[in-house]
Amino acid sequence: MPELPDIVVYIEALKERILGQRLENVRIGTPFLLRTVDPPVPATVGKAVRELRRIGKRIAIGLEGELWLVLHLMIAGRLHWSRSRAKLPGGRRGLAAFDFPEGTLVLTEAGSKKRASLHIVSGEAGLHALDPGGLEVLDAGLDAFSARLTSSNHTLKRSLTDPRLFSGIGNAYSDEILHRAQLSPVTLTQKMTAEQIQRLYHATRESLLDWVKRLRAEAGGAFPEKVTAFREGMAVHGRYGQPCPRCSAKIQRIRYADNETNYCAVCQTGGKLLADRGLSRLLRDDWPRTLEELELLKQRP
Ligand SMILES: [Zn+2]
Repeated sequence: MPELPDIVVYIEALKERILGQRLENVRIGTPFLLRTVDPPVPATVGKAVRELRRIGKRIAIGLEGELWLVLHLMIAGRLHWSRSRAKLPGGRRGLAAFDFPEGTLVLTEAGSKKRASLHIVSGEAGLHALDPGGLEVLDAGLDAFSARLTSSNHTLKRSLTDPRLFSGIGNAYSDEILHRAQLSPVTLTQKMTAEQIQRLYHATRESLLDWVKRLRAEAGGAFPEKVTAFREGMAVHGRYGQPCPRCSAKIQRIRYADNETNYCAVCQTGGKLLADRGLSRLLRDDWPRTLEELELLKQRP
């Protein structure tokens, strides 16, 4: 699922292309995409783009008249930019197209589960209702981070990926952050020492900033078309069985539902393998069965 670094780079690319441009037409490919009825789609047509904003993992396109188009890509939603009036891809893949004078922004979603969403809302209050409220770690100091982290007692993996606690972090970057911090995904947040929290704080910021930089460089001014949760250069995420870049031990995994968490036992858990099957009671109770579950909690205002 596109996370903070992906969304930041998408927004930068969108700013270059649609800021100040008038939305000429909106074509909706599937009725399931649009989750709001008022304001209606036609109210957005003819309005110029005034602002772009990231809200957690959502992309908010601000139009004249305080109207906002808010896109949530969920897992398989992707954006594409075409300089000509692009056709909506068929086979239920094409969800929507937004036509501007200089090109078309197309939203697609692979797979049969249609989860990506579009909300059209009015004003700051409308936007606020879509904000899960996660802390923006890149704007926050250590004290605010620490307070948020320890506001409830969960495993680190769960806390980092809960959009109500932290903004924009999902399965991929949480794996990378925990590896960088050399902390176990099952550490309980209220059991952490001040030193561990500080380490996590810096690792979170460094990971996110580092990946924004890398993805920006990779896009090289073009529209980012290769958005994926599995990136070359990631230390652990998606690298089960491959060598840890820090210590060369094999990367481990914990599988759950249709997803997995990757970690290095040497660097993160004192050599201990975390149960892959028959998880301990702690894990069963606290692990997000699916990370989407957490997202979906806030899908509807
Ligand atoms: Zn290692």
